[in-house]
Amino acid sequence: MATRALASVIGGQPASDGAGVRLARVIGQPALMQLDPFLLLDAFHSDDPNDYIAGFPPHPHRGFETVTYLLHGRMRHADNAGHEGVIEPGGIQWMTAGRGIVHAEMPQQEDGLLQGFQLWINLPASHKLAPPRYQEYSRDQIPLETRDSTHIRVIAGNTSRGTRGPVVQPLTEPLYLDITLAPGVTFAEPLEPAHSAFVYLVAGELLADDAAGDETVMRTGQLGILASGDEVRLRGGDAGARLLLVAGRPLGEPIARGGPFVMNTEAEVRQAFADYRAGNF
Ligand code: MN
Repeated sequence: MATRALASVIGGQPASDGAGVRLARVIGQPALMQLDPFLLLDAFHSDDPNDYIAGFPPHPHRGFETVTYLLHGRMRHADNAGHEGVIEPGGIQWMTAGRGIVHAEMPQQEDGLLQGFQLWINLPASHKLAPPRYQEYSRDQIPLETRDSTHIRVIAGNTSRGTRGPVVQPLTEPLYLDITLAPGVTFAEPLEPAHSAFVYLVAGELLADDAAGDETVMRTGQLGILASGDEVRLRGGDAGARLLLVAGRPLGEPIARGGPFVMNTEAEVRQAFADYRAGNF
């Protein structure tokens, strides 16, 4: 097998979004505008309510999926079609915005730790105007695979050991794993060679080889883009590691971004703004 080396390692960029939520923008910033089909990755992690309490009041989306994964804290969401609920710790909300929703995402807490991620995954032109859809699973509904001392929460996709994540999206065939590695332990897993893939280090230290075969140390908050190959090999550092391993099929289509809309052309983005202003979401 050919190991997918670390092609590059980048850090997040401090940003503020919504009504003033402090976060680190990891994908969707100058160092990494996108990693087709992944359009954006935000990481939020704070126990200061001033960093998150304002939340994300009502705003629209069209043309892609938003994937919210919470490690700590609770987020309430409600959309204009009457769909609402609370994402609890360890829970995932995989929202296919499709032709459009307007929703609010607000912290369901006034203090304490809020930690999680929002990933945006593109949809192909053929499905950008599909009906909105939710795939929501609590911590208890997400399978946990254990390999010796390695723990893998399988949110989307299948592992080589046969664990199947509950989220299904045939358009991009995403893999979304939350992996906890003990110090010095190696995790190896085949990955679809044609798929884009990255690791994001949630905590600890992670070791992986770069293209020259030299071991590289990744630190908390860094994202590593995986080069071509058919297997990923990662090793926990001295303090172990917790990481997200995410992969998906690139769409290879033109991308036109306009804030909360991601379409194929600028004209389609203008149409999205017009439809939103006209109340047609
Ligand atoms: Mn949103």
